Amino acid sequence: MNAQNVVESLKKRFPNEPEYIQAVSVVLNSIEEEYNKHPEFEKANLIERLCIPDRIFTFRVSWVDDKGNVQTNMAYRVQHNMAIGPYKGGIRFHSSVNPSILKFLAFEQTFKNSLTTLPMGGAKGGSDFSPRGKSNNEVMRFCQAYLLELWRHIGPDTDVPAGDIGVGGREVGYMFGMYRKLAHDFTGTFTGKGLEFGGSLIRPEATGYGNVYFLTSMLATRNIELKGKKVLVSGSGNVAQYTCEKLLQLGATPLTLSDSNGYIYDPDGITREKLDYVMELKNVQRGRIKEYAEKYGCKYVEGARPWGEKADIALPSATQNEINADDAKKLVANGVIAVSEGANMPCTPEAIKIFQDAKILYAPGKAANAGGVATSGLEMSQNSERLSWTREEVDAKLKGIMADIHANCVKYGKEADGTINYVKGANVAGFMKVAKAMMAQGII
Ligand code: NDP
Repeated sequence: MNAQNVVESLKKRFPNEPEYIQAVSVVLNSIEEEYNKHPEFEKANLIERLCIPDRIFTFRVSWVDDKGNVQTNMAYRVQHNMAIGPYKGGIRFHSSVNPSILKFLAFEQTFKNSLTTLPMGGAKGGSDFSPRGKSNNEVMRFCQAYLLELWRHIGPDTDVPAGDIGVGGREVGYMFGMYRKLAHDFTGTFTGKGLEFGGSLIRPEATGYGNVYFLTSMLATRNIELKGKKVLVSGSGNVAQYTCEKLLQLGATPLTLSDSNGYIYDPDGITREKLDYVMELKNVQRGRIKEYAEKYGCKYVEGARPWGEKADIALPSATQNEINADDAKKLVANGVIAVSEGANMPCTPEAIKIFQDAKILYAPGKAANAGGVATSGLEMSQNSERLSWTREEVDAKLKGIMADIHANCVKYGKEADGTINYVKGANVAGFMKVAKAMMAQGII
């Protein structure tokens, strides 16, 4: 396999899908050497079968807003790969959602799920519906209308959706309710459910906590402690909030948060009390991060991202391509020692190269943020055995899984000079398991 040729051919077949091509390109370049050690893979054209999703459902969703107007949105489910388990991946509601973004996310999800060591295939879904500014009833009607079509394509052993940007506990609750009504079946078909109806303790916290656990493992390879470090966090949703919570528990200081309008910089640090305010502001009031700066009298920068501020560590936790080459140069110049991705693909390929050349610790999302889907896997197990595990049990399992993912990255990503290429490590480890499963199952 020549990675560049495969990417060029995919670009011709899918010309308007830059995010998908970007994700495929990063993965293929990092697995090329390992792949070419297995001529049987090439003979079975494994690479095309692995890059192109099994199927994509595209449909219109119609719903009625509070003024009585009929609205339409486009919606999708990308079922990427089922070789190692049922399709599994979140649902995103955001105005930017399109097939390219969902294909990149489903592709990444396949390797991420493989890395968790749990039996889950890869998928992703969503709609260009934006919950921002909508009433509770409008969000509920949209979720129900989305499920009217989606429900026939999912199931506990077929495809198990969860949350992502714009989809939290509220939305999962409405979708699960509609699913069980239509399917006439109470099963573990969604994860991220409320605790009263099959949800798992620690699932809301898992992505942010998992990223901080992974970060501590990376720092440990250089005998550095997290305690006392200053941290730039972007986003202010689920992942960002629980990243801050774990940082505070481990003695680090988050300095920034953001949303799609701008970022706040609090030189005194975002304390537990201030984080409680952010949780109320974002999860209940559904306000803007600017209001934090107004309340606590700190800096707010409209239309910008926090990467020019000075700190020791950066944890991008908002969205794709939020750190470009210029941002990466600023981070390196300011002496950042580690960048660990809470979001999916937040760093552009140019930014990743700058981090790797500077030999700072850099972890891709498919490893660092895998704690979310791993805990979703644990929710599926609890649903299947109709039992609930304690907070301590789930957290211990999450810690163990993040440590295993780190160990796998080290195993496959150790370079001759002793440094660890986490991109290569994560991609090769995730890829090999799916590849072997596909080879064993024949050409289908
Ligand atoms: P939320 O919707 O809870 O929060 C997203 C945050 O990012 C919000 O602050 C939002 O601001 C901001 N944001 C969204 N889009 C943009 C944009 N285009 N530009 C700038 N800011 C933006 O989502 P999550 O916290 O769940 O997800 C964050 C990231 O983490 C995503 O990349 C997601 O794929 C990834 N992830 C999430 C997992 C999970 O378990 N939830 C698991 C693994 C990865 P605003 O309110 O203005 O939209």
